[in-house]
Parts: sequence; structure tokens; C-alpha cells
Amino acid sequence: MSQPNDDHPTWTRARAVVPRGVSSGHRVGWKQVFVRTEGAYVWDDEGSRYLDYLNAWGPIVLGHSDERVNRAVYEAVSTCDLTGVGPQRGEAELAEKICEVMPSAEKVAFCTSGTDATMHAVHVARAATGRLKVLKFHGSYHGWNDHVAVGSSRKDLNANSILNTPNGGGLHPAVVDDVVVVEWNDRAGLEAAFTTYGEELAIAFAEPYIHSFGCIPAQPGFLELLRELCTRHGVVLTFDEVKTGFRAAIGGYQSLCGVTPDLTAFGKAVANGYSLAGLAGSNALMGHLGAYDRDQATIDGTYNASPYSLAAANTTLRIMETENVHQRLWDLGARLRQGIAKAIDDTGARATVDGLGSEWCVYFRGELPTNFREAMQSDADAYGRYHASLLSQGILEPAFPTGDRRLNAATTDDDVDRSIEAVHTALLAAQT
Ligand code: PMP
Repeated sequence: MSQPNDDHPTWTRARAVVPRGVSSGHRVGWKQVFVRTEGAYVWDDEGSRYLDYLNAWGPIVLGHSDERVNRAVYEAVSTCDLTGVGPQRGEAELAEKICEVMPSAEKVAFCTSGTDATMHAVHVARAATGRLKVLKFHGSYHGWNDHVAVGSSRKDLNANSILNTPNGGGLHPAVVDDVVVVEWNDRAGLEAAFTTYGEELAIAFAEPYIHSFGCIPAQPGFLELLRELCTRHGVVLTFDEVKTGFRAAIGGYQSLCGVTPDLTAFGKAVANGYSLAGLAGSNALMGHLGAYDRDQATIDGTYNASPYSLAAANTTLRIMETENVHQRLWDLGARLRQGIAKAIDDTGARATVDGLGSEWCVYFRGELPTNFREAMQSDADAYGRYHASLLSQGILEPAFPTGDRRLNAATTDDDVDRSIEAVHTALLAAQT
């Protein structure tokens, strides 16, 4: 298996002309350069093969380089690539399917990334309510717009740290000041935030099942409380289903948990690796997406609803439905989590595992975390040893302890069983 290599020529070359050598933060820390993908596997440029449990941080759900999806994309670009005029080929078909399967969707607008989708959600909510403030949960990531890139910093996490610390530099302080950050699963904190800011809040964001810092469900009644408070105070409840949408279930986590938001931001798994995202909501709310009107929100984008991304998404959803892909994802995920839990027992490692469907996280702490602060108490050194051991056994997982990991539907039972053995070895390595 290849070793991390600071002197890798591709990295050296990239670092000379691209800040830090990458165009997306989490790509740092990886010394490998991947050059081939197929099914459940990725290959680096030295020919080493890895079982992929990163899956591009979410999009790859059917499997890498799925021929059926790629063929649909090729057919789309070779027939009518991009015109920038009128409804795009496949646009109504995809919107109709999403309205059929996703409880909150009566209308859908498409864009290219989760960051776009959450930005449009804020604009729609502000246009609809005439208010400015945004509520979000501590640690949840919703992209890099100023009004959400707050309160997810992994630094300064001592007990006194201020929750709405900006996630990075260059954010507008006045916008950041308008963000109210609440600890996940903190009922009293949530009620207090609505008592203080309820009439100023335009929007409340929640990942209905946390994937930003591992895999953390809402405690019983928490999503229902959030729904009730938003309704009572006229706040637009927005589920960020960028990770859960089309992966936990075709209709998103909202189709499983029974709580329906007003707006839904989605992306990632909808198009199996092609850049398509979107915003869904009621006719009334989505009616605030107008064009160039001072009182309306606007959606615009050269690549929005590109025919090739629509072809990828329509094909992905068709395969999900006809091949019962979610049953497969859930079965594989359950088999893996059970195996990991047994490996934890067998090795006596101070670790826990939790997850949803095809996603999971192993925490190096005695108990499952219920919020960001607790998740960040996972032992980073132990995780580092665990991660290095898995990598050396040909398994690719996130490089930081609270990264959620996921499998795709091309993974086999044998892959899962081999991973459980590798996890056993890695848990022993973590304890040394
Ligand atoms: N929301 C969530 C929950 C996410 O996980 C992400 C990306 N990891 C985003 C929003 C932003 O999506 P994108 O990277 O497509 O801009």
C-alpha cells in the first residue's frame, strides 16, 4: 500500500499554483492522488486499491463510475449540452419525481452545490418573512455562505467558547452576528433561543440527522419541538438534507422521521457524483423565487439544471427505485455496524459506533455523543492510529475523528466482512 508522500510530484506541482494544492478544504491531509474509480473501489497512481468509505463525502451512492449514469450523461451532452434558454431537458421529470417522494416538496429549483442551496434557502426565508436572523445548530456545516458558515469551528471548543464563532476568515461580522447557534439536542437552549429571537428569525436550519460531526440522531421529540417552535414563531424550518437526501431514503430523512420542514436543501447523492443540488418547498415559499425584484429572492446560475446533471439525477433515482437500492444500503450498513460493535467488544477498545442506513461513525470515547462538544471529545490520537491502520489495510475513511463514513451500493457482503476484520486490527492498533 502506498505511504503518504510529501514529495509526490502531483502534490508539489499543485501546491505551486493552487493554494495548499487543493480546491476544497478536506482534500488536504491526503497524500494519495487517485486516478481511477470503479464500483466500491478507488485506485491511486501507484496502483494501490482502496475500498472507498469516503465516497466523495456523500455523492457516490450507487457505486463509482456507474455505467448507466455515465451513459445517460454522455447521451445528454452529445444531444444538447447547454443552451442557457428555457426549461432544460429532464428538469420537469426530476422535479416531478422529487415532489412525489419528498414530503416537503411542491416545487423544486435546481442549482449546483449544497452551498448554493442553503444560500437560496436563506434568501427565500428572508423574502417570505421580512426578517434577517438565522438559527442553526452548533457544529452543523451548511456550506460557506456568510449566514451559515458560523458555529462549526473545531477550534476553541472549551466550555466557555462562544457558539457563533465564524468558521473562517473573510465573513462579514454583521452577518455573523445575525446567526443564532444552539447546541444540538438541547431542548432548553432551543426554547430559550426562540423566546429571545423568535420574532427576528427568518429561518432555522437543521440537519435532521447529524452527519457534520459523525452520526448523531435527534433525541426523541427534538425535531418535533423544533417544528412546533418554528410554526409558532413564523420561522421557516429548513432541513439541510444535502447528506441525508436520497441516501437515507429516496425521499430524504424527512420521509423516515415524520417531521416535515418548510424548505429542504439537497445535493450530493441525488446525481451519483455529478454536480446537482436544489431547494424544495411549498408552492407559497418557492413562489418567493422571482427574478430581479427587490422583494423577491432570485435564483440564477449558468450551470443550474444542466442537462447532463439532470440526466445523471434522473437515471440515479430511477435505478434507486427499480433496484431497491436503499434496502441494499441499509442491509450492508447494518451488517457493518454490527460487525464493528462486536469488534469493539472483542478488543475492549474504548470506542462506540453509531449510524444511519449506509452511514456510520466510530468514536473513540466511552459513550455515544449527543452533540458537537461531546463528539469532539473523541480521542484524536487513537483515531489517528485507527485511521492509519485502515489505510494500510486498503480502506479509505475520513482523516479526522468525527468524519462520517459511508458505503455505496456496489459494496459486497465480502467487502463488508473484510472491513470488519480490518476494523478489528485497527482497533487494536488504536490502543497501542
Ligand atoms: N450541507 C451539508 C449537510 C453538507 O454536508 C455539505 C457538504 N459537505 C453542504 C451543505 C455543502 O454542500 P456543497 O459541498 O455541495 O457545497
